[in-house]
Amino acid sequence: MNSFIEALENNDLDEMRKIPKSDLHNHITRGGNKKYIEEWAGIDIPECPKFKDLAEMNKWNEQNIKPLFQGVVGYEKRIEAAFIQAKMDGIKELHMSVSIGEESFYENSVKDLVQAVKRIHQSFAPDIIFIPEIAISTFKPFDEMNERLEEFLDQEYFKSFDMYGDEFAITSFKKIFRKVKEKGLILKAHVGEFGTADLVKEAVEVLELDQVQHGIAAADSEDVMRYLRDNKIQLNICPTSNVLLSRVKDYRIHPIRKLYDYGVRVTINTDDMLIFNQSVSDEFFNLYNTGVFNPDELNDIRKNGLKYMSRNE
Ligand SMILES: [Zn+2]
Repeated sequence: MNSFIEALENNDLDEMRKIPKSDLHNHITRGGNKKYIEEWAGIDIPECPKFKDLAEMNKWNEQNIKPLFQGVVGYEKRIEAAFIQAKMDGIKELHMSVSIGEESFYENSVKDLVQAVKRIHQSFAPDIIFIPEIAISTFKPFDEMNERLEEFLDQEYFKSFDMYGDEFAITSFKKIFRKVKEKGLILKAHVGEFGTADLVKEAVEVLELDQVQHGIAAADSEDVMRYLRDNKIQLNICPTSNVLLSRVKDYRIHPIRKLYDYGVRVTINTDDMLIFNQSVSDEFFNLYNTGVFNPDELNDIRKNGLKYMSRNE
């Protein structure tokens, strides 16, 4: 019998962790294993509450997480904890985003930042297929970001690109996406988390996205779901993030079911492990135990994320 299905049916987390999985929506500074950080910092991080919006989450993060990490030592500990988390959870394909601005920990040397990420990947999780991702916030000054982006691209290290922040402003960054596309990176953006189905379609069209981070609002429109399905646009969905940010009331009614039924390609991911504390393995159990998917469907979704590995596992 398939070991993934067996692990699900037996509610066996240890076995589930051994099964190859992917995490394609993961912000590197927030991707860390909570326990590992608690032991390092010598404190208990409280369980995060249900937030009413992103602002409330950011405030909680400022109070409970940020003060633990000082300077470059703290920054590198975050990255270390993220690779350790992925390895521990059996993640074989990992996309993690480094935000433009994080080079400030290295006196603005993007080269030194890249060296650090490479070194930590090699030291803690060399067997993971790691796709380094550049992320830009829509809230940062455009000219400054544009200039820094050149430096990031010049490293020839990054293979993916993501934008987050104000979904409603995202299509005004078309030029940036064109530039990144020329370099052959995977194009993603955070859209359809707070915004509408039409916004998801517009962003995919205008920015020529390959994948959408969240994109769950697409379930509100058959037209948009059909568009995503026909154009093979993948949605990298983070169920617990959606529940804890009050985007979805409960796993049971998560739109991932509707998207899947419509034939939209979906994957299951963590977003901010250090805050939400639900691994990819946990998420498979969350969706199984609440009756959203059966084991075969979850196995199908698991394979969606493993592009570089054999499809037959
Ligand atoms: Zn995200």
